[in-house]
Amino acid sequence: SDYILEVKDLKKHFPIKAGFLQKTVGSIKAVDGLSFNVKRGETIGIVGESGCGKSTAGRTLIRLYEPTSGEIIFKGRNIAKMSEGELRRSVRKDIQMIFQDPYASLNPRKTLKAILTEPMITHSLYRPRERMEKLNELLEKVGFNPLFINRYPHEFSGGQRQRIGIARALALNPDLIIADEPVSALDVSIQAQIINLMEDLQEDFRLTYVFISHDLSVVRHISDRVGVMYLGKMMEFASKKDLYEDPLHPYTQALMSAVPVPKKKGVQARERIILKGDLPSPANPPQGCVFHTRCPAATEICSQMVPEYKELKKDHFVACHLY
Ligand code: SF4
Ligand code: MG
Repeated sequence: SDYILEVKDLKKHFPIKAGFLQKTVGSIKAVDGLSFNVKRGETIGIVGESGCGKSTAGRTLIRLYEPTSGEIIFKGRNIAKMSEGELRRSVRKDIQMIFQDPYASLNPRKTLKAILTEPMITHSLYRPRERMEKLNELLEKVGFNPLFINRYPHEFSGGQRQRIGIARALALNPDLIIADEPVSALDVSIQAQIINLMEDLQEDFRLTYVFISHDLSVVRHISDRVGVMYLGKMMEFASKKDLYEDPLHPYTQALMSAVPVPKKKGVQARERIILKGDLPSPANPPQGCVFHTRCPAATEICSQMVPEYKELKKDHFVACHLY
């Protein structure tokens, strides 16, 4: 298969418990039927407003969370229901994550050297001497002076910490990296450096990325294909070009109308579409199409029937009754 990752109807619901007996009284449908695929070596962007479930999706994909249902086919094997022991033996090191706040994910009492070599020791990767070689290679790749190896996370800037987070992810030679808002906490000038670094590393290490972000401009820059999430579901999934230049789903159209487009001759600037209302609660999502309460194109059927997520043309998926 061309695909390193295939996600099929993935769901992650969190129970809502209440009362003295902590009975389950409902559930937060954070991820509620997500399907998409990822080819080896490409970058998939996942966009959506905060609260759409994209971070939960990322964490479920790498099995930080146990999926409620659905399939996660990674290199041909369904890892959705794999035991922790089996994951550790055969999958964990191949999928790594980069987080929005590297500081929170770096142990403040560990030196840079310990932070980068510990994953290798945990996974029994490399002999001790090779570990130092690997450490030096990682430092060079992310642009660190080897003299820094005995420093602690607080001695580094935000951008440097994110470089550490990236180097740590690379320490295990992963195939796939899930990056959850990796540059959102950084200054714009630093954002560009980190994105460029990620692009260079992708070539050097033949990496595949799933890049989760609310920032449509960053996603446009780095992605080959892009998925748009709303209330735990994929609304549209297409090549970057199709999605940004010719979005089909009304929600995507609204998102894209907020992105400044370079004016071409003969191309009219898009009119800004303002959505009415707020994002509904994922504990109580609307019936039918989950977007119908805010959709400018909604008709009667939209509140009654869930639209099918269809491949309208090669590699362009849309969930909407208009199509
Ligand atoms: Fe809008 Fe209906 Fe399409 Fe949902 S199915 S996006 S409500 S037109
Ligand atoms: Mg998030």
